[in-house]
Amino acid sequence: MFKTIEEQVRRKNAPAQLREAFRQHDFERLRGFCILIFCVSIAIWLIFDLLVSFLGEQGFSFISVLFVATMGMLTVILLFVRKAEHFSLLNLVFIAVIALGIRLVIDGIPTWLRPAWLVLGASTILYSASVLPVRRWSFFSTLVITWVILNPYSVPGNNLFDLRGLMIFCYASFLSGLTVYSYLKLRQVKLQNFYMSHLLLDQAYIDVLTEIPNRRSFMAKAEQHLQHIGATQGHYLAMIDIDNFKRVNDRFGHDSGDVVLKRIAATIKGSVAEFEYARLGGEEFVIYLWGIDQATAEARMAQLCRQVRDSVGEHPVTVSIGLTLVAPDDSISQALGKADEALYSAKHGGKDRYVLWRATQNQAKP
Ligand code: GH3
Ligand code: MG
Ligand code: MG
Repeated sequence: MFKTIEEQVRRKNAPAQLREAFRQHDFERLRGFCILIFCVSIAIWLIFDLLVSFLGEQGFSFISVLFVATMGMLTVILLFVRKAEHFSLLNLVFIAVIALGIRLVIDGIPTWLRPAWLVLGASTILYSASVLPVRRWSFFSTLVITWVILNPYSVPGNNLFDLRGLMIFCYASFLSGLTVYSYLKLRQVKLQNFYMSHLLLDQAYIDVLTEIPNRRSFMAKAEQHLQHIGATQGHYLAMIDIDNFKRVNDRFGHDSGDVVLKRIAATIKGSVAEFEYARLGGEEFVIYLWGIDQATAEARMAQLCRQVRDSVGEHPVTVSIGLTLVAPDDSISQALGKADEALYSAKHGGKDRYVLWRATQNQAKP
């Protein structure tokens, strides 16, 4: 099953909206890692700068302080960055600054050592950028900026066409290719996994026929709302059952029954879009409402009965609704039990109506 879905996902192109969601999700998951990379980069740069400054007897200059302060400031900004798009830009600025910082350090070592250290510096930057959640434009800009600032052929005496120059060129090309490939491949695999988990979640939580949430989805969301029952008073649960639905199936066939189910689901969705609703199974639906008083809950149920009754369609049907106040000590199953009792009363009261559950006696209201 997993392999089948994986194959399907590989063949399809993820929709633009999902790609956008993926970028944001990827950044949110890796935000801590990004902060760590920034901090570690500053620390490593500082160690090398101190080594070159003091062992190289050049002294810790004002420019070093400026670089540390700038990179520190960019890290502080990162603490407040919440959008993936902003990170792509911030990371590019950070890379430009640290590349200049690396250049400063390398310019302080003997000339013959510089080309190799410039390539080492560029490798470190490119490797780090390839694992960070940055956009494609940001990554390729990183590649350009890094090689422009850390160009090993800008060192006097390093010639592209001698042995050392050619070896450096081959290594730099190999390294750039490798980081580009791993960046693109890693993103593709992560995007496919994200896409696949979305598809699987949809299949697990959305009803295939009516395309509204299913029972599993409802139970999970209703449980969450129930936990906040103290904060948002007035929680109600309504159970909805189509009247004489068997007749539709028997007279017009199962496919017509399915069309009616879809229409009722769409009516419920349109009527109570701001609340949780789901197809419980068969021709039964459920709604969880919160933050409303009894009069409003009853008015909404009367309105829903009316909307179904008046909805234009090939096979007109009506619905019966069992409504109950969810008590703070109720579980969802208990509330469903009460709503089911009220629904039973609505059916026995003549259908096409809602009934509010009462502990002692139920009265049907058309
Ligand atoms: P009542 O007013 O008492 O609710 O009568 P009813 O005919 O709706 O009663 P009942 O609950 O016995 O009938 C439900 C029917 O719903 C039986 C079943 O064949 C049909 N059903 C359940 N799931 C589906 C479905 O996915 N598609 C179709 N077309 N019919 C379904
Ligand atoms: Mg039923
Ligand atoms: Mg029914």
